[in-house]
Amino acid sequence: MIAALPDERIVGFDVWHCALPVTGRRDHGIGAVAGDIEVIILRLTGESGVSGYGEAAPWAVFTGTPEASFAALDRYFRPLASKRRLSEHAQIMSEARAAVVHCTEAKAALETALLDLAGKIMGQPVWSLLGDKCRSTIALSCSIASPDFDADKCLLERLETDGVGIVKLKAGFRDHAFDMTRLEFIRAHHPGLAIRVDYNQGLTRDQALRQVPEIARAFEPDFIEQPVRADDYCTMAELRGRIDVPLLADESVFGPEDMERAIAEEICDGVSVKIMKAGGLLRAREVASTAAEAGLSAYGGDMFETGLAHLAGTHMIAATPEITLGCEFYQAKYFLAEDLLGEPFPISAGHVLVTDAPGLGIETDMDKVLKHAIRSGEERAS
Ligand SMILES: [Mg+2]
Repeated sequence: MIAALPDERIVGFDVWHCALPVTGRRDHGIGAVAGDIEVIILRLTGESGVSGYGEAAPWAVFTGTPEASFAALDRYFRPLASKRRLSEHAQIMSEARAAVVHCTEAKAALETALLDLAGKIMGQPVWSLLGDKCRSTIALSCSIASPDFDADKCLLERLETDGVGIVKLKAGFRDHAFDMTRLEFIRAHHPGLAIRVDYNQGLTRDQALRQVPEIARAFEPDFIEQPVRADDYCTMAELRGRIDVPLLADESVFGPEDMERAIAEEICDGVSVKIMKAGGLLRAREVASTAAEAGLSAYGGDMFETGLAHLAGTHMIAATPEITLGCEFYQAKYFLAEDLLGEPFPISAGHVLVTDAPGLGIETDMDKVLKHAIRSGEERAS
């Protein structure tokens, strides 16, 4: 469900492909990120001159390429959104899904910008357009993912100082011994931190059946996430029966349709919900509610993204009571050399703060978008 939205027409549709420098390297099971991240920024402008912003944060090895997101927005979504009324939200998003398969990050960007613009015009926060506010803060988890564990030891100190209470160890990118050593260190030196473990598909079936139960027994993390390839539902289901901690699906579940299949095949105890996988805020909420109806838990995941996408995820979680395991919107503060928001993404005492200002609540800084832009859209049909 979504609130009645304004009749104002969209008269501007601008797209930028940005490359943002990062402060270090992050290794995940399926690949590494270093140097910079690439995101696509969409700006929709209404007849009143107000603008709404959205972000597509693709990762080639996970969801898709920035080039595909850019083309989806610039070439295919531009004509179906331009001149349309914001009150046609459902039709616009339905047409976007029909016009381009996959490219869920581009669909998330489109819906984020539509809702940001509508919220600003209405003087209401995006969460209020989605439903009731179920929380004002969201517990933050930060990932431990550097191949240089000494660098992560410094990050762990910083996180404790900042009051962050949850870390997620990215595992399965080097070897089992490295994962065990890092977990032993965190348990010994940071006993107050809750630990989650995410393999990002990094293990083969045989590795997973050996290593995952050992990690579960030795460290009893809050959950263990996606040890094997996204399509290996069989091993996910088998692992569930071999461990006593919850098994989460991430890459195995993009949208509500995957969630239903995952439930039917009993592959997981919970799910990482991401607007970039689901193709928008509304479909992300649907993933969480579908999971909850089957007794599964839900976590607020993200991609390599800026504070703009973090805000979209924050508003989605603020209106989605089923997402109870916190979020991982750490990149704007702990990974990017410079974020795109005009103010810092709001984090305090280890929690993301839900904003109540109109739209997403914090404006995107166009000077920063243009500074990091490596190409822009064609600005046709606007
Ligand atoms: Mg994950």
